[in-house]
Amino acid sequence: MGRCCMNDFLLAGMIAAERLPAAHEAKSAVLSELRNALAGASGEQRTAALLKRELDLPGDTAFLHDVHVPYKDGTAQIDLLLVHAEVVCVLEVKNMVGEFYFDSVNFQFHRIVDGRREGMRNPEAQLHRAVRAVSGFLGVPVHGVIVLASRSGKVVEAPKQYPVISLDYLPFHLEQLAKGSKLFDSAVLAAKLESLPARNSSRHWLERHNITFDSLRHGVSCPTCRCCPLVWQERKWNCGVCGFTSRDAHEVALQEYAVLFGCELDTKLAYRLLGVEDKYILYRLLEKTAPRSEKRGKRRIVENRELLHAYFGRVYR
Ligand SMILES: [Zn+2]
Repeated sequence: MGRCCMNDFLLAGMIAAERLPAAHEAKSAVLSELRNALAGASGEQRTAALLKRELDLPGDTAFLHDVHVPYKDGTAQIDLLLVHAEVVCVLEVKNMVGEFYFDSVNFQFHRIVDGRREGMRNPEAQLHRAVRAVSGFLGVPVHGVIVLASRSGKVVEAPKQYPVISLDYLPFHLEQLAKGSKLFDSAVLAAKLESLPARNSSRHWLERHNITFDSLRHGVSCPTCRCCPLVWQERKWNCGVCGFTSRDAHEVALQEYAVLFGCELDTKLAYRLLGVEDKYILYRLLEKTAPRSEKRGKRRIVENRELLHAYFGRVYR
């Protein structure tokens, strides 16, 4: 799993998959959403890698991942966006197997996989929204393409507004679009997009699945066993199952909390989050990575997504 593709939505799913008890009402929904999100992310990653390798355009090309562009009252999420001096293009990557039907009369979409019909969000409608948002935000014309990243996906009924292109053919398609003269300062456009805030959507997701702090397994996880809490003894974290030891394993638990619930941490919750009872041990553990905030009884977690990328990178490659 490429780091650029491990966004907060994916991380929230990975954390919940590990910490939600099997009996929780949303467990199976969380796991299936995570599977889809992982497939999507791997499709985007393969698309970006192929384009970096094979796309033949003069000058610089920027690939932006997971951009949230203001649109109407909210934002449009763009998974992958190509910015070049001659062409700006939103790539709606579909890494799915089966037969796809884009119904352009009532704008519904379904696929047939293993003989079963499965209705889904219409990629064409999503793409249209994304194209409008980027075009409005940058003030330039923007192209859009639906990319089939899986060779086991086949289009039976094609969309009307946007092309569907298989991954192998994508570099050629984009080179055709770019045939022309330099239209934009791509560095300026890319910088404008990069200045947008990365929106944290965990709160709504947690609410939808009825996931609260109390519903999760607490404690500092062993990075090897993954399911049992480590115990702080003799100035280090110890795993009673595999013998793993560490001085800073609690930092991952703090980062997990920050992804799900934000950076502000109530000190009372911190005892339960880390599974320690001793005040002085807790304060020492939080000293650097979650210092006191101005608010009484609150800590502020210093965000470091890299720790989570490393922790989950061992499982999701
Ligand atoms: Zn262990």
